[in-house]
Amino acid sequence: MKILITQKIPDIAEKMLKNAGHEVDVAGENILTKEELISALKLKPYDGVISLLTNQIDSEILDNAKSVKIFANYAVGYNNIDIEEANKRNIVITNTPGALTDAVAEHTVALMMSLVRRVTEADKYLREGKYKGWEPLGFLGADLKGLNVGVLGAGRIGYRVAEILKKGFELSVSYYDVKRNEIFEKELSAKYFENPEELLKNSDIVTVHVPLLDSTKHLINAERLKMMKPTAYLLNTSRGPVVDENTLVEALKNNVIAGAALDVFENEPMLAPGLADLPNVVITPHIASATPKAREGMAILAAQNIIDFFAGKTPANKV
Ligand code: NAD
Repeated sequence: MKILITQKIPDIAEKMLKNAGHEVDVAGENILTKEELISALKLKPYDGVISLLTNQIDSEILDNAKSVKIFANYAVGYNNIDIEEANKRNIVITNTPGALTDAVAEHTVALMMSLVRRVTEADKYLREGKYKGWEPLGFLGADLKGLNVGVLGAGRIGYRVAEILKKGFELSVSYYDVKRNEIFEKELSAKYFENPEELLKNSDIVTVHVPLLDSTKHLINAERLKMMKPTAYLLNTSRGPVVDENTLVEALKNNVIAGAALDVFENEPMLAPGLADLPNVVITPHIASATPKAREGMAILAAQNIIDFFAGKTPANKV
């Protein structure tokens, strides 16, 4: 089969696909624009595509990919793909769950630590030559032990974050999810809230791990930010549009909450005006899964999904 990989990912994917007898093209090193993606898809009658979260696979792209039978998304989130349109055309979509759970959870914790102990703020201060000697009242942050972390979206990543915070930092855990997750309650003694509002009101740290869906867009909005404690911190490593970013900037300016750490943004790669100027914000450029193990694991899953599909099996990560 002819397989297109829309942007360079770890070599293992190409190797696996070639070993299975497929022909593989990699479109290049950079993110493709919509026009470039259409041109790439027209080069050959591709049978399968490994797509990235930076490729919006909408009806126009699907209309230009008539020979493609499977899009294996190189991500666990698949909000970049119009699933309904793909279904109409009988195109199979897969994702890469699990391979990046630890990496994303660990990055979430890194962001949290940077935020509450003001690491990036203090780093900047030092580099700017402002440090004149040990300051007894300088850069006071929050003590973590005993605080409550509220997990919004209690799936794989949410669980791992909660587990690290509970077992490593002795935080207590609560969660909200559309589905009750008894493992949270059994293993982490977590309290279940029946709605996001109660979770927001009762948490010192809110960490967001829901997929981006119509129902989760702006799940964190002005009204809900106001429900949070003024001392609370918000962490988002899920998808940018889950948080109303302009509203968050206003809330942070007005000390509605204490701070936020974000790996994802509403209009990537753009940031909401004013966000990067705020001292009580830590931001990273969508790197939560950026470890060799996670990225290779994702490449293996994406390639295996395509190999299995063309071998007549149902791919393990069909969504
Ligand atoms: P998962 O499917 O295991 O967990 C998601 C959870 O959210 C599920 O338990 C689901 O029931 C819950 N949920 C769905 N709708 C909800 C709603 N309206 N309110 C509350 N809960 C809701 O997924 P995961 O592997 O934990 O990944 C979570 C998300 O993290 C992905 O969808 C992806 O968008 C994002 N992600 C980001 C990065 C990154 O690089 N920053 C990397 C990986 C994943």
